[in-house]
Amino acid sequence: MITLHRPGALQALPPLSLYIHLPWCLRKCPYCDFNSHASPASANVPAQGMLDADTETRYLNALCADLESALPQIWGRRVHTVFIGGGTPSLFSPQGIDRLLADVRARLPLEPDSEITLEANPGTFEKDRFKAFREAGVNRLSIGVQSFEDSKLKALGRVHSGDQARAAVEEAATCFDTFNLDLMYALPGQTLADLQSDIQTALSFRPPHLSLYHLTLEPNTVFATRPPQDLPDDDTAFDMLDYLTEQTTQAGLQRYEVSAYARQGHQCLHNLNYWQFGDYLGIGAGAHSKISFPDRIVRQVRWREPATYMDKAIQGAACSNEQEVALNARPFEFMMNALRLKDGFELLRFQERTGLTLASIQQAMNQAEAQGLLARDLARAWPTEKGFDFLSDLQALFLQD
Ligand code: SF4
Repeated sequence: MITLHRPGALQALPPLSLYIHLPWCLRKCPYCDFNSHASPASANVPAQGMLDADTETRYLNALCADLESALPQIWGRRVHTVFIGGGTPSLFSPQGIDRLLADVRARLPLEPDSEITLEANPGTFEKDRFKAFREAGVNRLSIGVQSFEDSKLKALGRVHSGDQARAAVEEAATCFDTFNLDLMYALPGQTLADLQSDIQTALSFRPPHLSLYHLTLEPNTVFATRPPQDLPDDDTAFDMLDYLTEQTTQAGLQRYEVSAYARQGHQCLHNLNYWQFGDYLGIGAGAHSKISFPDRIVRQVRWREPATYMDKAIQGAACSNEQEVALNARPFEFMMNALRLKDGFELLRFQERTGLTLASIQQAMNQAEAQGLLARDLARAWPTEKGFDFLSDLQALFLQD
């Protein structure tokens, strides 16, 4: 018998994004489980709000070497979005970001209208660099506000104040047509009235995009070992989420993903590509990649520790780990992303991105539907409201042995 289509073979490669990780922060926040590191002592960052030139140059050289070594894996593919995340990328100088984007453009075919996001914190020094970041080619800014209230920022161990946050958002709105504010809720000691004040302040700036996160105590963080006092209970946290969704809807922002709310035309294209199980090359310390080939899907991780990463990247060995995504892991991996989206996914997209047939998930889909967690028509499937509330239960139905 001749087999025309080998299970798991991809007929078309998905869109490709580029993620660039800049790992340093002024100091490590107690709730943070990202690969972020207090800036090197030699860098004198707290005084100037910027990395020292030597560290910046060494890191940019390492990123360049990392990208060059990765090129054969993505040869000929166009890049649709770039996301410079961290860490606190706004600790880099605008000249450094300009060089970084020039290095990328010289090596990768970047679509002319690519979304280029940079994450920034609202410190005074960083705010003063927003305009220059825009001139360097960044066209979307994502600001880690978290709260506008000083006592909440202090409880989160953040280094900025509410006033600095307000000034930073004002500046972002002046320099950028599109920007995102990160806000957290269910904070230590936070009441519904506190949250109302935070979200009203945020909405007063008419942000095109908001990311609203429930504070969670992640393993391997300071908060995991020393949890903060007075955390709101689950019922209060649910009320807070309901309030946020109601207020953002009234302000014209649609909740299009579990934590993401956007005005029409301002969804984050980079994150959408993750959620649609697209490909991404991640360069920089601890960055993750997912790259599809006609016969396999590969996940990679770069060395986590910045000094090790810089040494290894220069030697052409930036990856610390690489593995193939097994066929039976693909449905769950796809659903971990796609079911975060309010609109779910196109059924054809599942086949295209995983190389599997719909028959491989038919039973799980039926079960999800029977439990009221998933709805579907002939073209799409999407989480119901209940499915959104019990997302991990819904996603777990797609785990395979
Ligand atoms: S500023 Fe952001 S990335 Fe840095 S430690 Fe705090 S939460 Fe983590």
